[in-house]
Amino acid sequence: AQPLVRSARALNEERLVEVEWEDGGRSLYPFTWLRDNCQCPLCTLDSAQARKLLLSNFDINTGVDAVELTSDGQQVSVTWPEKHTSVFNANWLKKRCFSATARQAVQEELFLNERQYWDATLQVPTADFNQVLHDDKAALAWLLALRSVGVVYLRGAPAEEGQVAKLVERIGYARMTFYGHTWHVQDKPMANNVAYTSGMLVVHTDYPALHFAPGVQFLHCISQAVEGGESQIVDGFHMAEQLREEDPEAFRTLTSTLVDFTDTGKDYCDFMLQSKKCIIDVNSGGQVTGINYNNATRDSVLDLPLSQVQPFYRALRRYLDIMTRPENVVTYRMEPGDLVTFDNSRLLHGRKSYVSSPDRVRHLEGVYLDWDEVMSRLRILRKAVHGDA
Ligand SMILES: [Zn+2]
Repeated sequence: AQPLVRSARALNEERLVEVEWEDGGRSLYPFTWLRDNCQCPLCTLDSAQARKLLLSNFDINTGVDAVELTSDGQQVSVTWPEKHTSVFNANWLKKRCFSATARQAVQEELFLNERQYWDATLQVPTADFNQVLHDDKAALAWLLALRSVGVVYLRGAPAEEGQVAKLVERIGYARMTFYGHTWHVQDKPMANNVAYTSGMLVVHTDYPALHFAPGVQFLHCISQAVEGGESQIVDGFHMAEQLREEDPEAFRTLTSTLVDFTDTGKDYCDFMLQSKKCIIDVNSGGQVTGINYNNATRDSVLDLPLSQVQPFYRALRRYLDIMTRPENVVTYRMEPGDLVTFDNSRLLHGRKSYVSSPDRVRHLEGVYLDWDEVMSRLRILRKAVHGDA
């Protein structure tokens, strides 16, 4: 429902405009912020929804001359001492209310940071590949689950190359890396990556050797091994929380120790990467926001004082022990035509070793994306499906 303003007035002492809503609530808006966000054509480039007004072009200690409410209660106008008038729509103001609750609600709507944690009992959300490509509702449900659960299985793709590219096209564009626009997971002679062998891969995130690792990964099964090759996934965020609870000291170590990662070789072109990352990223509020762990590319260069080496190994081992407990790991076997899409900043993934026969070679095609592009498509789909938010 359209929010309606009951009254609006200037609180000159506090330099706030007070808005009383018809539903009984009250919001406060700083003069400076209102002046900065004037929506008129002089202050805003409407075609880009971008600010034209410069910070140097108005008084950040401005007062107001008048605050008025339109008779229908849908707009508040503010006239400034410079004789400029700004008109604000009620729903625009309501969405930008400065109360902690309102800000939190808007942030959740913008970024969808709430996550559903899981363990081995997870029923992996599943969607139809072709529906996701052609139906906005199906595509939105796919991306919402990818964001909150971190993994979605897609079925029904043709068992041939080029399918991950179609899915990327649905979003926008792919994240290019040294392994190419898309890459092929197969047993390769003189493999430039442990993934390109038939050996087992312990759970890992991809590409911690990049300071900005790819946020999202799509993997498409083109052909599966005769035996073995089952996939394994674990919820790195959930396991990090479990570590924090079981062993706070280990959690502190993994969230504060910078670990060197390295990746050298030749694929799309030659590369020699080095990065320094914490195994577990946390934000300023202490929330887990990312996992960076690949045992194969963890560098033998370890930039730690001697006394911190053993505590680091102990902490890492504790985290891995939790992540490899059977009650925490989801195992599935991809069949030709199956696709798995997952959050590479949160999930760790691995596979069991496999046996290929010459006429049935295991072959997956993969691609990376970043969360910015995926979230952009998600917001557009949400607007298309549910209308303007
Ligand atoms: Zn203006």
